[in-house]
Amino acid sequence: MLARILVASAMTIALQFADTGGWMRLALYLTVYFIAGYDILKKAASGIINGRVFDENFLMATATIGAFALALYERSGDYLEAIAVMLFYQIGEFFQSYAVGRSRRNIAALMDIRPDYANIERDGNTVRVAPDEVETGAIIIVGPGEKIPIDGLVTEGRSSLNTSALTGESLPRDVGPGDEVISGCINMSGMLKIRTTKEFGESAVSKILELVEDSAAHKSKSENFIARFARTYTPVVCYAALALAVLPPLFMILFKGSAFGFATFEPWIYRALIFLVISCPCALVVSIPLSFFAGIGGASRSGVLVKGADILEALSKVKTMVFDKTGTLTQGVFEINAVHDGNDMDIKEESMHLLELAAMAECYSSHPISKSLQKAYGKNIDRSRISDVEEYGGHGITAVIDGHRVAVGNGKLMRSLGIEPVPCRTAGTIIHIAADGKYAGHIVMGDVVKAHSREAVGQLRGCGVSRIVMLTGDTASVAEQTAESLGITEVYSGLLPADKVKQVEILLRSARSGEKVAFAGDGINDAPVLSRADIGIAMGAMGSDAAIEAADVVLMDDDPLKVPKAIRISRKCLGIVRQNIVIALGVKGICLILGAFGVVNMWLAIFADVGVMVIAVLNAVRAMYVKNL
Ligand code: ADP
Ligand code: MG
Repeated sequence: MLARILVASAMTIALQFADTGGWMRLALYLTVYFIAGYDILKKAASGIINGRVFDENFLMATATIGAFALALYERSGDYLEAIAVMLFYQIGEFFQSYAVGRSRRNIAALMDIRPDYANIERDGNTVRVAPDEVETGAIIIVGPGEKIPIDGLVTEGRSSLNTSALTGESLPRDVGPGDEVISGCINMSGMLKIRTTKEFGESAVSKILELVEDSAAHKSKSENFIARFARTYTPVVCYAALALAVLPPLFMILFKGSAFGFATFEPWIYRALIFLVISCPCALVVSIPLSFFAGIGGASRSGVLVKGADILEALSKVKTMVFDKTGTLTQGVFEINAVHDGNDMDIKEESMHLLELAAMAECYSSHPISKSLQKAYGKNIDRSRISDVEEYGGHGITAVIDGHRVAVGNGKLMRSLGIEPVPCRTAGTIIHIAADGKYAGHIVMGDVVKAHSREAVGQLRGCGVSRIVMLTGDTASVAEQTAESLGITEVYSGLLPADKVKQVEILLRSARSGEKVAFAGDGINDAPVLSRADIGIAMGAMGSDAAIEAADVVLMDDDPLKVPKAIRISRKCLGIVRQNIVIALGVKGICLILGAFGVVNMWLAIFADVGVMVIAVLNAVRAMYVKNL
């Protein structure tokens, strides 16, 4: 394409100095014209044959052929305008495909997280295999400088990981034995042995790549609007041009007594051709999807995966932000503050026994409470002693351990089993334990708010998100204390997962039309809420597949600051879309009106078409730069 543009441009310039005339001149110019635009002519022709007549190709073909015909009729030999229209149109097209390619490459840089191989040990040798051949539970070896191909747990070695491609976070993360690592990170220093916990297809990289690839298919309302607009707009423009060419001269002939001859029509036909060139909708048709594409690309580079242009558009209209507490605003890493037996007294062996019971009952759960209990217990659990595990969202867990029926959870769980929980004076999240229908005691756990939660709430208020709500299954006292420390005034506590859905539905109903309600959760038992809200934001959800499926936005790290950031990215992108609509329609509108009065010549028309397109495309690419937002 570039070669064609260059050849055609060079020939056009050369022709300005060549002293030719008559048919020779026409032949030379026609040659250049075909070099520059044969594909456009072909597309226009096939559009006519297939019944889809009115598109940009048709506009350009008609305008240029018309310009040739006029010049021929006038015997002026001035074919330059026709060629210029075609040539500049092609330059615009080339430029646009370059810009699209660039933002694609930027997303591809994110795609660069795709690992090509995994190292496994076989008969004492390290062999390279395709990542999708590695089974769950296999040991893989990741050397310095290599990408982690599959999610897993470090079994041996220490190193720091570069997670920037995933999270946009430039600080390296140190890992050692027992730490979870996700695929796509780059191992920077030491050799790591990792026991895989997932298959390649289920690992973080595969999920992310799938998500990014799919996001292009979800069109925003603005894009759909523009596509529909172009479908009706282009034919309207063509008929308007025809009317401009025919009606005014007819009027003059009938009422002003002009001669009925081509000379009366000629200036109007010229104006109609200019009209066609100006009104080409490509600046809009091209730049708006490109803006969204660039916005989604920029967001994913800062660790915010947005599942589609429609979501990005909705994000910019968020006025109500709902947060889940545990794991979203708080770290979800509970410390054990106290262990009380049934008589609210510390007994050493007894408390050890309580913790052991709780840790055993919880050993299959992925709830933050469970993970913290496992950590506090610290010993390996013989899973063969545990059976009939059942988890009740927002309540807790029941299981059979060594033949004893054990229940671990909050007061609600106890009461539902007909056991009266003993209240506790220590502040915190209370985990009650009962064995064989009798109350055994409780563990008091404390969660810590995330370092950035308070700032995130403040920034959201700063972006005009007027209503910030916290939902939690935890007790009122813990909930209120947390909310107060974060500056959140609206709190609903003691909610079961189903209650959270109801609460979000109430908020959805009270939101004004055009204003959106977003919910951010960690995805542990809140997948239904994630899908019910206008926008579901899953936090650091690489661990929970259900959340990734249900969420519209996935934040790659747990950082709540990414929520206001995502909103700012979406606002910037939508701002650019709006600017482009105003610039394109504005310039074109003015030129069209001037053109109808004959003030605009072909060169200004070319600017109104190609110039505006280049400006709009350059502006669209700006949506990608979101680092300092
Ligand atoms: P949040 O809304 O804060 O994320 P959840 O809905 O996950 O909290 O849980 C609400 C409450 O239910 C917890 O505070 C806890 O008391 C109890 N709970 C839920 N799951 C478990 C579990 N696996 N073990 C013990 N308690 C649990
Ligand atoms: Mg939760």
